[in-house]
Amino acid sequence: MVIVDFDGTLAPIVADPPAAAPLPHAGAVLARLVGRIGRVAVVSGRPVAFLRDALPVDGLALFGHYGVERLDGDAVTTVAEARPWAEAVRTAVAEAEVAAEPDAELAGLFVERKGSLAVALHWRRHPDLGPAAVRLGRRLAAAHQLRLDPGRQTLELRPPLDVDKGSPVAELATGAHAALVMGDDRGDLAAFAAAGRLVKEGRLGHLLRVAVRSSETPAELLHHADLAVDGAPGALDLLAELAGLLDG
Ligand SMILES: [Mg+2]
Repeated sequence: MVIVDFDGTLAPIVADPPAAAPLPHAGAVLARLVGRIGRVAVVSGRPVAFLRDALPVDGLALFGHYGVERLDGDAVTTVAEARPWAEAVRTAVAEAEVAAEPDAELAGLFVERKGSLAVALHWRRHPDLGPAAVRLGRRLAAAHQLRLDPGRQTLELRPPLDVDKGSPVAELATGAHAALVMGDDRGDLAAFAAAGRLVKEGRLGHLLRVAVRSSETPAELLHHADLAVDGAPGALDLLAELAGLLDG
């Protein structure tokens, strides 16, 4: 079983997040693995609709919003507890957009609506906005009881549910002979931890936690990884190598 993150893992990090695209051969490499290695899943903070457009691979399992959404056949399903939070997220988006208007304090901050259940604030194009963006994020999180998750020159606000990347990982990897779990950011720590727990409990045979390294990789992720690869190209090389072993 293979469980991979999207941004920074299959897709290089870009300054304009909606423009992020997987490396050209990512879909083909995943397609080689699907059906031959148990399940192959992408678990991401992105909405499932985005992932489906970016990676149209038959049989690929997709989990979006850190496991709050999933692709079920052709339909996107959302965990029921998340739905009542759409209004709070919508309000937080509106307030963030006001704060980021051209003549406002955070002019230049990029406010990204991520479906109806999350909003991200990005300051990659304006690193000087980081501290103020974090203050805004904290204020919005407190005002609307949303959860705040920091990332690479970004933060996200989403429903305060007990769902993180560890949730789909635990579901997918339970009972598996072996799992490869790969990611590049703080959110992937939950995936590493959930898979590690399964091994300790005897519910997963073998585990390889792979950190995708860049200048921004959290030290904690590298610390908890069994292996590190360099950037999305390194991640794809590893998956292609795995596919090659299966071919052989
Ligand atoms: Mg990532």
